[in-house]
Amino acid sequence: MTMFDVSGKRVLVTGGSRGIGYAVGKAYAAAGADVVLLSSGAEVSKSAERLSGETGRRIEAVRCDVADRKTVYDKVGRLGRLDVVINNAGLCRQTPISGDRDEVDDIFERTLAVNLSGQFYVTRAAVPLMDKGGAIVFTGSIWSTTAGAEYAAYCASKHGILGMTRALAHELGPKGITVNAILPGTVHTEMNLQNITPEIRKLVLAQMVINRGWIEPDEIAGLFVFFATPAARDITGQSIHYNRGQVMV
Ligand code: NAP
Repeated sequence: MTMFDVSGKRVLVTGGSRGIGYAVGKAYAAAGADVVLLSSGAEVSKSAERLSGETGRRIEAVRCDVADRKTVYDKVGRLGRLDVVINNAGLCRQTPISGDRDEVDDIFERTLAVNLSGQFYVTRAAVPLMDKGGAIVFTGSIWSTTAGAEYAAYCASKHGILGMTRALAHELGPKGITVNAILPGTVHTEMNLQNITPEIRKLVLAQMVINRGWIEPDEIAGLFVFFATPAARDITGQSIHYNRGQVMV
């Protein structure tokens, strides 16, 4: 076994139907891991088929809303052995403080339910299926340590991911399971295609200090694999930005 070997590991990727999650699933499968993609929409079955075609491996699909805890405990709880959990499902919507009261409050609650509570439910369901040597990776955001106007719910959820990462690292350390977070910058996915106006994009790109442009999902995926390799066994409770130098902390 090399320091970077993940072959034979069984990996659950939430938010795996597209974007960053799909690329992470692809990177693991290409490295010889068995992958389960989980998302709430019907698209996830087609994504699993596509990934299987691309990598030649058997890929499983689970359709489940991570905010629906009963379904999470049922469906994730029945998956069998897991070595790696990538808690990546998420949504990003505006919650302006002066916006329409009911609409903004509903979006606020839903954002926290999916981006924070849902990650906790998936982790709770998965941990009994994991053993010593397991790895859990959360997807935070550049906004886990910074923030932007009109995104209070999203920023709160992504700051919360850091607290949860650190608390769970303490809790799961004695079981030999590591818990870390990756904080992406501006990645070329549906989420950003829907949210980023040309003006914001120009501003963001100007802040990048290397390789200006969208970060492609396949580029960031390797870091998600790294955290499950023997080379990362002593890294836990940490977070790392992947953002072309847009933010340095
Ligand atoms: P994306 O392309 O919109 O993908 C989001 C994924 O999450 C999809 O597979 C989606 O599938 C799934 N999902 C959404 N709500 C769900 C729910 N309730 N239950 C289960 N799955 C759900 O976005 P992305 O950019 O790849 O985002 C992935 C993660 O990266 C998110 O946590 C996001 O906050 C984070 N992130 C992204 C960026 C960026 O620049 N793109 C930057 C920082 C952080 P369904 O819709 O079918 O459920």
